[in-house]
Amino acid sequence: MKLIVKKCLSILFVSALLLLVIIPAPLISEQQSYSNSIEDDFQDLKRNLPSLRNMLFLDPAPSSNYDDREGKKVSMVIVHHTESPTLKSTKCALNSTGISVQLIVDRDGSITLMVPLEKRAWHAGISYAKVQTDNVVEELQKLNDYSIGIEIVNTGLEPFPEEQMQSVKDLILYLMKRFKIRKDMIFSHAEVGTIVYNSAIEGYTIRKPDPHKLFDWELLEKNGIGLHIGDKIGLQDAEQKIGEVLYKVGDKNKSILKLKKRLNNFFYKILPWHDKEGNVIFPDNNVGYSDEFDENFVWVVNQFSMRHLPKGIRKGLLLKLEREDILPELLGEYGSCAFNKFTSLSDRIKTSLQPPFLNEEDYKCLLSSLVQYGNNISSDAFATLMYKIKLYYDSYLRYNISSSLYMPFKLNAFAKLDALKNEVLFLKSMSSEKATEVSSLINEFRSEVLSDFENFEKQWFQEFKDTWKQKFIPNMEKQMSWTALHETILEYLEKAKEEVVRN
Ligand SMILES: [Zn+2]
Repeated sequence: MKLIVKKCLSILFVSALLLLVIIPAPLISEQQSYSNSIEDDFQDLKRNLPSLRNMLFLDPAPSSNYDDREGKKVSMVIVHHTESPTLKSTKCALNSTGISVQLIVDRDGSITLMVPLEKRAWHAGISYAKVQTDNVVEELQKLNDYSIGIEIVNTGLEPFPEEQMQSVKDLILYLMKRFKIRKDMIFSHAEVGTIVYNSAIEGYTIRKPDPHKLFDWELLEKNGIGLHIGDKIGLQDAEQKIGEVLYKVGDKNKSILKLKKRLNNFFYKILPWHDKEGNVIFPDNNVGYSDEFDENFVWVVNQFSMRHLPKGIRKGLLLKLEREDILPELLGEYGSCAFNKFTSLSDRIKTSLQPPFLNEEDYKCLLSSLVQYGNNISSDAFATLMYKIKLYYDSYLRYNISSSLYMPFKLNAFAKLDALKNEVLFLKSMSSEKATEVSSLINEFRSEVLSDFENFEKQWFQEFKDTWKQKFIPNMEKQMSWTALHETILEYLEKAKEEVVRN
């Protein structure tokens, strides 16, 4: 027994010695220098990105907004644009909705670290990539497990400044080196975010449009990040080739089935995330593809176009259409309708409560409360709202029309109405009979105006749906058909990927 223990000990001792000899010193210290601490990550970033030293910030996200990778290894980077217009609003939106991202790059190129890099942040959601590691091809979902997310401050309608792109580049190079991430494992959220069926528009669409078409994939590729054809094709050549449509929606043949398999092998999810009935379709496995260029496949081609067509062509592609892109002209009409209703309500209340039903003092208060409320919902108020919406519409901030202009306006109209009701009901000389009467008048008005707002929203959405079907989709033919340019690019990418994976 003793002997065995002694023998074991000596084996242990010899192996320990061997380990010390075999493992080169730098590897040990490299492993030791990284830990799960965000402070260590921050210091490491500072050491490795000396030119950005003063542009690096640490702002830890609440630890309830991220978790462990459960044994999965970091093997990819996913880039996003924020849609939110500023760094501050982005951090607010992330923290308050319980989602997270490891890093944010602001317009000036400054970088904020929010989640320890070894931890799993929640930025990619439903996602898919077919990847090859050590001769094993795997279909991965829930890419948060494997990825580091970078949010880039951009509303989705503006170019990415050079300083910002430079920082994104430096940051990804750092991550690639530290986590040994292959160059083909740099993805956009749009291309891994999958296609979904959207019952509201009764059609398929991409889940995520970010980062948008003006993102400088060419700059990254030049620096060894991601796969892209870059300047290996001239603009003239590209323009000619994009005119040669090989397959388009509705076509049906064996080569389309082959193309779907090639795109899936390249890493795209071909089938939507879930079908019309809401059943999740995973894995793809090249199985169950039809030989038709169907209405969901056009979106896969769009994902490919937005990411891989050359810059000169890409900048002319149509972006995702949002409800906010349809100017809600009808709001003005609904507005004057609501104001007329209020005028008649106001008249009825005045007639019903005029002295002697209220004393003079209370009646004066009542009149002033009514006038004040009227200002919130007057034609002027709606005109001002429409004016602001038009300003937003002409700027890159139009994605905010609903959340920053329309909704607050609507909520304010009802909050102030509740306040008005309280004011009136608590007038000292108000009898309980009159209080009941006025209360029900105001309630009636409230529900009528609420239904006006709801009708307006329905009409706004209907207009969006019509524009989607009649104008938007037909105009997207270039990015939704498979052309000779797409074919040339895919062939190039397949070769480039093979080379990267082989090495
Ligand atoms: Zn995203």
